[in-house]
Amino acid sequence: MLMVGNDESAVETELVAGQLSCPSCREQLGPWGHARVRVLRRRGGEEDRLRPRRGRCRGCGKTHVLLGDEALLRRRDEVAVIGEAIEAKAAGVGHRRIAVLLDVPAWKVRRWLRRFSERAVEIYEHFSRWSFALDISLSPSGPGKGPFVDALEAIGATARAAVLRHGPRPAWCFVSFASGGLLLANTRCPLPPVP
Ligand SMILES: [Zn+2]
Repeated sequence: MLMVGNDESAVETELVAGQLSCPSCREQLGPWGHARVRVLRRRGGEEDRLRPRRGRCRGCGKTHVLLGDEALLRRRDEVAVIGEAIEAKAAGVGHRRIAVLLDVPAWKVRRWLRRFSERAVEIYEHFSRWSFALDISLSPSGPGKGPFVDALEAIGATARAAVLRHGPRPAWCFVSFASGGLLLANTRCPLPPVP
């Protein structure tokens, strides 16, 4: 899988022009049909049906789904909504209240938060490396407020550094991109190396 932007025609242009590279070996990707339709649930409950493009590597021959960075792998809800839940939890809001605020089932919020907690140390380290890669003058704030809040603060610092370096981009879309869509994936799926 490769995280891309959310403008389908821009992705198509890049894919056809050979400007996307294979996440496994960095060779050029070429067009290779589409992946299965997936549903993306927006804030407020509206659902979009997306059919992500698929690319095939001209080097190693692997195929990769090109997933827009408004989503996370195997999560039906858009990453901005999941991110809001994580921010609310860090601010001390309980999962039932968050579920009401975001109009999603409480079990789902609990599952997101639990997964983020399980990966919190890894997320903190990953985004600390990312922020250093974006701006070498940034040193990690250092752990101190507990793994959950530390991880979110590292994400916030990195998203700000990314905007300063590359221009505006919704923070949680950057997070999805920088985690390879795996922010809330099973802990057996390591986060991708920082470029
Ligand atoms: Zn390849």
